[in-house]
Amino acid sequence: MPLEIPFDNSYARLPERFYVRQAPVPVTAPELLLLNRALATDLGLDPDSLQTPEAVEVLAGNTVAPGSTPLAQAYAGHQFGGFSPVLGDGRALLLGEVVDRQGQRRDIQLKGSGRTAFSRPGSDGRSPLGPVIREFIVSEAMSALGIPTTRSLAAVATGERVVRGQQEPGGVLTRVAASHIRIGTFQFFAARGDTEALRLLTDHVIARHYPDADGPMGLLDAVIDRQARLVARWLGVGFIHGVMNTDNTSISGETIDYGPCAFMDTFHPRTVYSSIDHAGRYSYENQPEILAWNLAQFATALLPLLGEDRDAGIAVAQEVMQVYPQRVRAAWLGVFRAKLGLTTAEDGDEGLIGELLGRMVAGQADFTNTFRALATGGARDEFVEPEVFDQWERDWTARLAREPEPEALTARLKSANPAVIPRNHRVEQAIAAATDGDLGPATRLIGALARPYDDPTDDLRDLTRPPTEDERVYRTFCG
Ligand code: AMP
Ligand code: MG
Ligand code: MG
Repeated sequence: MPLEIPFDNSYARLPERFYVRQAPVPVTAPELLLLNRALATDLGLDPDSLQTPEAVEVLAGNTVAPGSTPLAQAYAGHQFGGFSPVLGDGRALLLGEVVDRQGQRRDIQLKGSGRTAFSRPGSDGRSPLGPVIREFIVSEAMSALGIPTTRSLAAVATGERVVRGQQEPGGVLTRVAASHIRIGTFQFFAARGDTEALRLLTDHVIARHYPDADGPMGLLDAVIDRQARLVARWLGVGFIHGVMNTDNTSISGETIDYGPCAFMDTFHPRTVYSSIDHAGRYSYENQPEILAWNLAQFATALLPLLGEDRDAGIAVAQEVMQVYPQRVRAAWLGVFRAKLGLTTAEDGDEGLIGELLGRMVAGQADFTNTFRALATGGARDEFVEPEVFDQWERDWTARLAREPEPEALTARLKSANPAVIPRNHRVEQAIAAATDGDLGPATRLIGALARPYDDPTDDLRDLTRPPTEDERVYRTFCG
């Protein structure tokens, strides 16, 4: 069957100043390495037809599929707090949109598809294969954990080399998202004083993502809500995004841009992996506060829509923003209550959670394995001094005695605490093997990560083991 993608490209119908139209830059020897058949089916595409040589040409950017209107989206953004008025897709192209089997509109984007009008001077518009494999593995793991995220449809090797210090094989990722509209997209137009574009973008986003939102402030409120819940979910799985710039904060509330991200092994709230985050701005514990800052930039970008009186607009936006601390705290409490098997709320819960986390730091406990082992009684073994856990466990047991349905506790704990997460050292091993032409470890890891809440079978249990000293990854890098 020939590849047919039923594109319906709403973003391309927005005015020309929202993007630059351009075809992807061809590559010499494309080879399909990973294909997400389940996602293809969800999108209403035939997985077999995506494996044909003609489809691989599309996934590599060598052919533009019928109905595709490739374009580089314009956006701005605060990177590490400093504002860049023009960033845009410097190495990605939106091929178009499809409406999936649930009726949801989804972007299909190529990442690593060559230089665009937005590429930084001297940059290649490409991606090394390593980061492509990383994004594929980690984004699909995130999705299986039930956390909103962009998805990965395919990973293609280009047959070309890219230079990142040393030469590495190149890759192209096919990324699927509810949309690729970011806080930075709004900032792009706000910075140019293009209120007309801001209005069109706001209408587009409300129609597409938040049909119930009432105007710009309704939109702000809705985005605050989704993003607050998203960051709480990250904290619940020990995820550190690594580059929470405003151009990497999606309006739809999905996790986007898997660069120097990581899941923590040993718990410490100040953990940072990104090689470029010297000040620890985007550490694990800073993420809710950074999100508040990013959302404030979103509110600021919306101000021109609130009328001529800027002070009055600021007052209105500030009032909407006030809900954030409460929302993020409620979302965090919801996530961590569930991790302790609690279905009811009591005033002391925050203290109980905080007390466990504090003891985990002191006890150098593995984040994922400690929570998972709450279901089996093995959590104490995760602590350097198990008695430190025992003291806390007495309080937890007393609290659990006031919960209904004690017989369902184990199942509740397992469904809130994953056994398998994409540990850095496993991701790195999978990348190293894939770069050498062996996709076995990546495929195995992807398979295990698809069922993170199941007890792993014996042959996959090694994936739950924390890294040894030799395996430990201290730094992660952008692509
Ligand atoms: P990121 O840090 O991944 O959010 O990227 C920030 C900006 O840098 C975006 O505008 C990217 O399109 C651009 N960028 C990143 N890598 C490349 C590259 N290899 N070539 C061109 N532009 C890039
Ligand atoms: Mg980005
Ligand atoms: Mg990136």
